[in-house]
Amino acid sequence: MDINTITEVVRHPSQRPGSGWRDGDAWLAGGTWLFSDEQPDLRRLIDLMPLGWDGLTATEAGLEIGAMCTVRRLYEFSAPDDWRAAPLFTTSCEAFLASFKVWNAATVGGNIAMSLPAGPMITMTVALEATYTLQARDGSERSVDAVDFVTGNHENILAPGELLRKIDIPAQALRKRHAHRRFTLTQLGRSTIFMIATQGEGDLLLTITAGTTRPIRLAFNSFPDVDTLRHSIESIPHDLWFDDPNGTPEHREHLAGHFAEELRGELA
Ligand SMILES: Cc1cc2nc3c(=O)[nH]c(=O)nc-3n(C[C@H](O)[C@H](O)[C@H](O)COP(=O)(O)OP(=O)(O)OC[C@H]3O[C@@H](n4cnc5c(N)ncnc54)[C@H](O)[C@@H]3O)c2cc1C
Repeated sequence: MDINTITEVVRHPSQRPGSGWRDGDAWLAGGTWLFSDEQPDLRRLIDLMPLGWDGLTATEAGLEIGAMCTVRRLYEFSAPDDWRAAPLFTTSCEAFLASFKVWNAATVGGNIAMSLPAGPMITMTVALEATYTLQARDGSERSVDAVDFVTGNHENILAPGELLRKIDIPAQALRKRHAHRRFTLTQLGRSTIFMIATQGEGDLLLTITAGTTRPIRLAFNSFPDVDTLRHSIESIPHDLWFDDPNGTPEHREHLAGHFAEELRGELA
């Protein structure tokens, strides 16, 4: 849609794109969300795509994903054979409530920065123990654990003018066994809950998203029994369970307990 509050689009930002940041600015990545709604508070869009930070690079250390890598490219990525968890890339792309037209333009970084509970790139990167690199207005960088980035529904830790530059997924996480469960009210609907479990040497990581306002990652150093797992789910504060037309908090908590036990059984 036309967003008629915008008076300027910066097409060629400098390598320090936040240096001239002012109120009413927003980063423009694929634009699939920005152009889908009214933006009454925005006056200027700063296009990130010309910066070219869209790489998808596999090394011995793992996978580096440039924030402007499109969902389509991630979907088509061919991973090294020993990355057992790589099918989670396609699974997560397919978890968008969106067609290939959105995949072609939407970026991995844009999805994470949107910070919606049903952001599948958030699910995938939290489950795979990713680190995000953020670039501040003065060009300095900081690294954060993916699980600490989203703080609530459409809320995250980015400061004004700070941007997400890249995502690093460690190879050790990509070599883990994995299983997932996702519930939607309709066949191609938005996720009510999306859970991923990964298992290394006897441990278990259980990531819960979409059902909660921010991602939850439960870590077990040894494989949990039924009661330990159930207790961990019950310990999640009630106000973290998300409430929207796709499910009540009670429904989501129930699904989390049910799926957690299924995932435990599958990986046991
Ligand atoms: C039909 C349809 C279905 C959708 N389904 C889903 C869905 O199932 N789940 C979901 O989560 N979203 C969904 N969306 C919303 C949106 O399309 C996605 O979240 C998409 O991944 C956003 O990526 P983008 O590159 O297009 O971001 P943009 O629209 O360009 O930007 C989104 C927001 O992130 C900011 N931003 C973008 N890149 C960065 C960056 N690198 N650093 C800092 N801030 C940045 C922008 O300023 C803006 O506020 C859907 C949208 C449509 C139109």
